[in-house]
Amino acid sequence: MAMPMIDLTRGALTDAFARPIEYLRVSVTDKCNLRCVYCMPEGGLPWLQRDEILSYEEIAHIVEAAAALGVRAIRLTGGEPLLRRNLHRLVEMIARIPGIDDIALSTNGLLLEEQIDALASAGLRRVNISLDTLRADRFASIARRPGLDRVLRAVDAAIAYGLVPVKINCVVMRGRNDDEVAAFAEYSRRLPIAVRFIETMPVLEYAEAQREEYVSAEELLERLRAIGDLQPVDGPRGNGPARYFAFPGAAGTIGVITPLSHDYCDRCNRIRLTADGRLRLCLFGDHHVDLRGPVRAGATTGEIGEILQRSMLIKPERHHLRLGEPASQMRALSEIGG
Ligand code: SAM
Ligand code: SF4
Repeated sequence: MAMPMIDLTRGALTDAFARPIEYLRVSVTDKCNLRCVYCMPEGGLPWLQRDEILSYEEIAHIVEAAAALGVRAIRLTGGEPLLRRNLHRLVEMIARIPGIDDIALSTNGLLLEEQIDALASAGLRRVNISLDTLRADRFASIARRPGLDRVLRAVDAAIAYGLVPVKINCVVMRGRNDDEVAAFAEYSRRLPIAVRFIETMPVLEYAEAQREEYVSAEELLERLRAIGDLQPVDGPRGNGPARYFAFPGAAGTIGVITPLSHDYCDRCNRIRLTADGRLRLCLFGDHHVDLRGPVRAGATTGEIGEILQRSMLIKPERHHLRLGEPASQMRALSEIGG
């Protein structure tokens, strides 16, 4: 096969398969205040040291270089991003960067209500909140810590602050929460939210259980159709790979996300920055480029931009993870900024 070529003279970030890259997910921490069974071991991970983690100034420097090459949307994630002190300061810094017109946050919601005012004033536009159950006892067993009431208040606060569309990410697991599909559908009828059901991915120690607990999006849609007249609709504005539906008269919508299918690779427009400054080119697999070294060595925005452009050469055409395959190599999403 001929080597893909990248035109470094072009002023935009485009990979070797002609996909324009406009979306950068930034993990600001690897740490979390929950231990969701599908994401993180109960005892936590070998956490990064403080000096290994990019400072806000270093992150902003990289975002500036990316924005100069056409990246326009940033999502802050983790780990749990709201654990990072004064996150609103980073939002403020990114909001000032020319070319960035969308700043979003992925959070478990526990600390959102108390920070939402500062975040919204700083320029946060949208928020995704993870919520796998509407039952307090189950929350404690799935997230291995309590907190449902705080997450529900976070959803209400996000709506009140107009951080819309408020997207609710719900990982569906057979035998753990798949009997709550109707309750979540009802939640989306009542509130202007987009409930997105996510198929499980085989991550670390959860890889074994994933095979047993996996519920396909098609099965979910079947179950939803049995509840009412589910109609396909245009999704809310955003950069995600979900397909959307709604019940007639509902205030919100329902989406399904199938991370393991290859359907979305063709229009993949995203890259990821890990908390310790590696640029990851695909969620699956290990294609990455170190940016922390060059940034700390004093690289200019232009020089970082050149590294970003070169990194396009190793962005794979598609991921190679398949259902049912042993996937112990799949790293923690929290580590790479899911
Ligand atoms: N802590 C934040 C949160 O929970 O939203 C942000 C980071 S979290 C890693 C990002 C998303 O990845 C969450 O929506 C979570 O549900 C999803 N996720 C983590 N592990 C997963 C898995 N094994 N399968 C599917 N989704 C997963
Ligand atoms: Fe923490 Fe989010 Fe992973 Fe849950 S999914 S353990 S909230 S990083």
